[in-house]
Amino acid sequence: MVIRGGRVVDPVQGIDALRDVRTNDVVVEIAEHLEPHAGETVIDASGAVVAPGFIDMHVHLREPGNPEKETIESGTEAAVRGGFTAVACMPNTVPALDDAIAVANLRGEVARRARCRVYAIGAITRGRAGEEPCDYAAMTHAGAVAFSDDGDSVADVRVLYDAAGAAADVGAVFISHCEDAMLKPIDARLAESAVVARDLLIAAATGKTWHVAHLSLHASLELLRLVRSLGASAPAEVTPHHLTCTQEVARDLGPPGTVNPPLRSERDARALRDGVRDGTIDVLASDHAPHTQQEKRAGAAGFTGLEIALGAYAAAIPDLPLPRFVALLSSHPARVLGVPGGTLRPGSPADLTLFADREWRVDASQFASFGRTTPFDGAVLPRKAVATIVGGEVRYRA
Ligand SMILES: [Zn+2]
Repeated sequence: MVIRGGRVVDPVQGIDALRDVRTNDVVVEIAEHLEPHAGETVIDASGAVVAPGFIDMHVHLREPGNPEKETIESGTEAAVRGGFTAVACMPNTVPALDDAIAVANLRGEVARRARCRVYAIGAITRGRAGEEPCDYAAMTHAGAVAFSDDGDSVADVRVLYDAAGAAADVGAVFISHCEDAMLKPIDARLAESAVVARDLLIAAATGKTWHVAHLSLHASLELLRLVRSLGASAPAEVTPHHLTCTQEVARDLGPPGTVNPPLRSERDARALRDGVRDGTIDVLASDHAPHTQQEKRAGAAGFTGLEIALGAYAAAIPDLPLPRFVALLSSHPARVLGVPGGTLRPGSPADLTLFADREWRVDASQFASFGRTTPFDGAVLPRKAVATIVGGEVRYRA
């Protein structure tokens, strides 16, 4: 295949120029002009940006256990429509992904059914019960790329400290959902920052790399800067909704506006946007958390995110330089998870996201995802995926 005439943006190689790209299942070559060979598919990318495939490292695919909320098919179809060539799925399934067999089973299902690449995140504790560390070496061997009890924080600090020790020799990072369940009803802001501080101090003390999921507070950003200055290896992500939406939006939405962590103040959202601009935040991740409409009306926490993410990030920070936008969605999550991709260097997987600055209106009723609740429903967004290529195969084309 030859992808012609697009603006190729690959921050890893320092490319930002009009180029043609030749692929088979890997990237073959990039040049100013490539003449298609007989039988080669040609994709006209004029007017589009051609980027390394986007990776959403925070996605809930709801399998096993809750296929009424989402399936591997629906979630990964939503991913490719949203411009993602890979997702990492969270282990708060039923049962939880807490041992090597569960990880291997999921990988088997994914190999048969997924529309994009899917990387498994294993649980930190057995059954996500917060009591007993999992077998990280065995799960990594089975294909887990990170560990998280996402949806909950590990409440017992001794368990978490032991877990970090048990995972010390495993490359896969820990990912923290920072909300103290006991503090939350008393002080929903302190519930986040107290756990950010605790987990990142453990990261600094143990040397374990610790990724902070869905940062939502100005204070959390300041803590992140502090612990990094103490030597912690601590990348961090932010969601489209926390970058843009405030508690007023949540109030207007009523029970469907429920999300963890909750939507915060305009001051927090502004600080998060600045945190993306100044490099404190490394990764953009949607926290795609689909539920049925009935569950959302009853206040289930989470928004559908894969199909609005690209446009919502661009709307939140329109001045973000394109190479940085691309890095936050490709090379940075690839580096945090230690997975292939994130660059179009020849020999890399032929995973590419083509997108354009083209206005479109969100219509959640048309989503591939079963999750239909997003604060961006009805919004006009300025950027859209126009083609998603996974392993040299076109999986989506607008
Ligand atoms: Zn979470």
